[in-house]
Amino acid sequence: MPEGFSMPSDTAQPPASEATRPSQTQILNGRFDKLSAEQTVEELIRAIRAGERGVLSTVNVAILMMMRSNARLQRFVDSSRWTVADGQPLVWASHLWQQPLPERVAGIDLIDQLCARAAQERIGVYFLGAESGTVRATVDVLRNRHRGLDVRGYADGYFGPEQAEARAKAVADSGAELLFVAMGVPRQEYFIEEQWGNLGARIVIGVGGSFDVIAGRRKRAPAFVQHAGLEWAYRLAQEPRRLFKRYLVTNSQFLGLISWSAIAQVSHFRRVTPRP
Ligand code: UDP
Repeated sequence: MPEGFSMPSDTAQPPASEATRPSQTQILNGRFDKLSAEQTVEELIRAIRAGERGVLSTVNVAILMMMRSNARLQRFVDSSRWTVADGQPLVWASHLWQQPLPERVAGIDLIDQLCARAAQERIGVYFLGAESGTVRATVDVLRNRHRGLDVRGYADGYFGPEQAEARAKAVADSGAELLFVAMGVPRQEYFIEEQWGNLGARIVIGVGGSFDVIAGRRKRAPAFVQHAGLEWAYRLAQEPRRLFKRYLVTNSQFLGLISWSAIAQVSHFRRVTPRP
């Protein structure tokens, strides 16, 4: 089994609540590390320095709901070494369980923050995913922002299954310790899972469509929209046809499940609290 990222076989996972560490918060079917963005970055740099390996999953509401109907994705996230909440609604929801997450940790911000630290620490980085012009532009932007960034390589994310092993081995041959994979969910997770033994990189992070934003091909919601928990609405406005069904389904499912859990929690509290 690959070191540091043991994908369970088809056997059932232990119930998530049993496996939740004290440093984690359970929100519905997801376990999230109680780490701020800065702590996440420092933890990953520490792990690289210590010669450890692992996957970090960034999970938003849409992905959390997708995990419910995609057992493979659920197992992948459950087996990740770290999982962070990439959305304000998840941070709000964590307060319902009295286990608040410190803040949202967005994959796209992690790319920047990790590249800044990687440049200081001379850690080699690889970028895999998006169209070839986009990944090239992403590398240019990040090299300009972070002087001395050691980009060991980059490649687009459009390849067939027969090329996957060669793409993964190219990452290992580059000697990169930090790998960002931006091929959309769950495509990137399947790739990481299947190629974990070939990738070589110590830390691997799936970052969805982040390269499109860094390269300027797609706009990111302004900060106030993000803080209002409405980043999904901003994306929806950009691609209404493609995303309408996705957000309608996942948002209403999340709202329903969260409300139901909150009601269950309150009634449980009433039952166990002795009346004066
Ligand atoms: N992408 C890729 N390979 C593919 C399909 C998509 O690298 O085979 C890239 C795509 O160019 C984009 C990112 O994955 O940069 C996210 O794609 P998409 O927007 O389709 O995913 P979503 O955000 O809808 O999950």
